[in-house]
Amino acid sequence: MAREYCKIFSAEARTIESFGPCLEVIPVYLIFRPANVVPYATVETDLTGAYQKYSSLDHKGRLDVRTSSTVEQKCCAFQHWIFQWTNGNLLLTRLEGVDTKITNIGFSVKSTGYQGLSVAGNPQIFEQFVSQHKCNYFCGLFGLRSLKVLESLATPTRSKGSRSPLLQRKTTASPSTPQNSRKAAGSPRVSRKVEQDGCKTPARQKDADPPKSNLADIK
Ligand SMILES: [Zn+2]
Repeated sequence: MAREYCKIFSAEARTIESFGPCLEVIPVYLIFRPANVVPYATVETDLTGAYQKYSSLDHKGRLDVRTSSTVEQKCCAFQHWIFQWTNGNLLLTRLEGVDTKITNIGFSVKSTGYQGLSVAGNPQIFEQFVSQHKCNYFCGLFGLRSLKVLESLATPTRSKGSRSPLLQRKTTASPSTPQNSRKAAGSPRVSRKVEQDGCKTPARQKDADPPKSNLADIK
């Protein structure tokens, strides 16, 4: 199943020129050997090269994600992508392999029964992923929404109660932004409307550009 998700992910990645080599979850085949003491076995292509772990769970069950190399960052973006795609229900916890060839995937599902999967994950991993994941260049290429934004959308009662829409608008018009200088020139009412339109339209939210999502992360 992870392989199918990865195919979609990579198909999208291929449309983005600057993404580079795509990730591929290598196929695993189930074979039947009637004469053998262990009649069922799985086989997969032998991966030659340096076998690396991109994401794993440590002995305490905490998510350990590496983010230094390009492949590691792509794996992070893949985690984020699948998390967003499944509305936060599926989290890839174990990603390892050789270069962009990924195998031995481990995952957690938020609630038992999601897509017929019975492996319920530790809810803390999901919280940890949301707080720990830092969007990288590849998340930006996919236009993935910041996990912090997703979280606030998912929970009706916002944890940051002080953050009213009014306050957010105020932040947008901080002295250093170009909007502010424009504001000084035009009428205040008009420029505020422009700002509102700029950040509230669904179209903009859908394909948020990378600099914007980075900005959301810093906050
Ligand atoms: Zn991300």
